[in-house]
Amino acid sequence: MPESATRPHKPVSLITGGTGFLGSHLADRLLAAGHRVVVMDNLITGSVDNIEHLRNNPDVEFIEQDVSKYIDYAGSLDYVFHFASPASPFDYLEFPIQTLKVGSLGTHNALGLARAKNATFLLASTSEVYGDPLVHPQREDYWGNVNPIGPRGVYDEAKRFSEAMTMAYHRAHGLDTKIVRIFNTYGPRMRLKDGRVIPAFVGEALAGRPLTVFGDGSQSRSFCYVSDLIEGIYRLSQSDCHEPVNIGNPSEMTVLQLAEKIQKLIPGAPMIEFRTLPVDDPKVRRPDISRAREKLSWEPQVSFEEGIANTIKYFKEKITLDKI
Ligand code: NAD
Ligand code: UDP
Repeated sequence: MPESATRPHKPVSLITGGTGFLGSHLADRLLAAGHRVVVMDNLITGSVDNIEHLRNNPDVEFIEQDVSKYIDYAGSLDYVFHFASPASPFDYLEFPIQTLKVGSLGTHNALGLARAKNATFLLASTSEVYGDPLVHPQREDYWGNVNPIGPRGVYDEAKRFSEAMTMAYHRAHGLDTKIVRIFNTYGPRMRLKDGRVIPAFVGEALAGRPLTVFGDGSQSRSFCYVSDLIEGIYRLSQSDCHEPVNIGNPSEMTVLQLAEKIQKLIPGAPMIEFRTLPVDDPKVRRPDISRAREKLSWEPQVSFEEGIANTIKYFKEKITLDKI
């Protein structure tokens, strides 16, 4: 009997956007759970540095590919995790058409691949589907307040379309689908210059430049550490929950409070400089995580103090290495 016939089957997971911040952490989590992982990415905002530590792992395969074009995979697949998309406001304003394409054509292609392989499909959606919310905190049954033609509309509407397409494949084709609505997440492997508020403030503070607070800083966000988010996503992938599930940390703070916390943590950090608030910047954001608690027995474990300390440490090392 060939050796492969006696070897236990390892689940195979394909991650679109797998060289990005979240996709690369998801790859680590799936490998730890005994999966083989196929990373598919066109590197538009990701980097192979994020999966460099997996280079010689025989259970990992990297395919450079734009998922907005037709995609295929020769082997069998058990899961398709669709994470490909520019994700920071900075990035999706720089790549508006690519963002709309990967949310629409890319999602259709990834769903088609999952259907062809009879694989479970998990969509990385976002709290941005709630837009500038009129309900606070946000529950999954809130339909949102989105400006389709504003600059953020390219991302918000792409993700709303991708949720609609995912539910259509579930209802019309009986595909096993899951949707995670991810709230602001931070941690190692974010790009220092991706424009998101935590890398922006930490990078500015480490460089001795003023911390750029947009607007008066009274807008709020709720920040989730990456290991908590990835655990929630893994549990969702193993569940039978087809409805969208919010995953995020409900502990909320204003952007000004965030700047002050970071100033305290980085000795000699400079002053705050106020800048114009971007168009349609949501005024509040906090997840209601009752569904995740009930269906996935999940809630965040990492405090902001612990998570931000790890993140600052990562950025300090990265800056030192980049200078060598
Ligand atoms: P990221 O930019 O680090 O990763 C996105 C990855 O997708 C990158 O590696 C990029 O190269 C790849 N990609 C983009 N377009 C592609 C295409 N057409 N074909 C192939 N690959 C493509 O961002 P992230 O923070 O890791 O976000 C991952 C996913 O999670 C995104 O779908 C994003 O919308 C969602 N999300 C993230 C957050 C967060 O706080 N990090 C919040 C809400 C939703
Ligand atoms: N922000 C800021 N300074 C920066 C970057 C962002 O004040 O240098 C603000 C931004 O206006 C928003 C919040 O921080 O209110 C979070 O922005 P981010 O880009 O991280 O993500 P968003 O939640 O807007 O998608």
